[in-house]
Amino acid sequence: MADLSSLTALSGASLWINNLVDGTSGMAVKAKHSIFSGSSHFQKIEVFDTYAYGRILMLAGTLMFTERDEFIYHEMMSHPALSRHPNPKSVCIIGGGDGGVLREVLKHPTIEKVVVVDIDDMVKQTIETYFHHLATGFSDKRAEVVIKDGVDFFLACKDTFDIIIVDSYDPGGPVQSLETEDFFSQVASHVAPEGCAVFQSDSPILRPGFVRSIHGLVKPHFAAMAPYICSIPSFPAGTCSFILAAHSNDFFSACNSKATTTIAPLCKYYTEAIHTAAFVLPRYLQQIYPV
Ligand code: SAM
Repeated sequence: MADLSSLTALSGASLWINNLVDGTSGMAVKAKHSIFSGSSHFQKIEVFDTYAYGRILMLAGTLMFTERDEFIYHEMMSHPALSRHPNPKSVCIIGGGDGGVLREVLKHPTIEKVVVVDIDDMVKQTIETYFHHLATGFSDKRAEVVIKDGVDFFLACKDTFDIIIVDSYDPGGPVQSLETEDFFSQVASHVAPEGCAVFQSDSPILRPGFVRSIHGLVKPHFAAMAPYICSIPSFPAGTCSFILAAHSNDFFSACNSKATTTIAPLCKYYTEAIHTAAFVLPRYLQQIYPV
């Protein structure tokens, strides 16, 4: 296949990457060139170098993260939960093959074991080749990477975890097994009594129906849950939502201040104030969630 950058240079054409939501709105990013394009058994995997956001990873034609603002997403998938737990030691990350959440989890000094489960080994290989700053956690002796479907992993897993982070949401993505009621029940049964689970629930602005459906799948399996948000420039409509779910109501009011004061200085988005403020939603977003 001809090298895209030479074609671009020759023709003067621009290479625009469109990241659309439901084909009706989204973001266009002008690329300098394609860096990698391949396909695993599950999905197309592409890496582009872009003018505005640096390198970007696309899976199955959907933007996963950009070099410029991935820290926001990965910090906010990790620290609101970890800094509420009194002494987090064991974490499981479903869909964490890009290493971003793993990197953040390993910042916590109490962590003894992190199991990263991803169905696609080619994602991890792509990260190790083209996104070194995201691959740092893979060589940490506390980390274990399991290449497996998240559902199959939990069916065979006898352990519970202090924190389970489900980082595999790209609705309509290549594998739908994580969008079943049974999977949420499996997650809940593998969260330790004092622990919690975090689910990414997509754009509350463009996909309120999806947010409500995730909320409905989580609710029956946990004693308490709370949505929170963060603003990410490259995320569809700029706001990403999450759900924190726990077996005890006390979990939410907790703030392991030692953790927040240790971790916040190591972050570029998460702060001690954001630890609480992220759970304050504007009225129009509050109304999305069923009471
Ligand atoms: N961290 C990314 C970001 O910054 O947006 C999000 C992760 S990406 C949406 C989804 C990841 O979950 C991919 O690495 C994909 O291979 C993995 N995945 C999808 N379905 C899965 C399944 N059933 N079991 C385990 N991993 C899965």
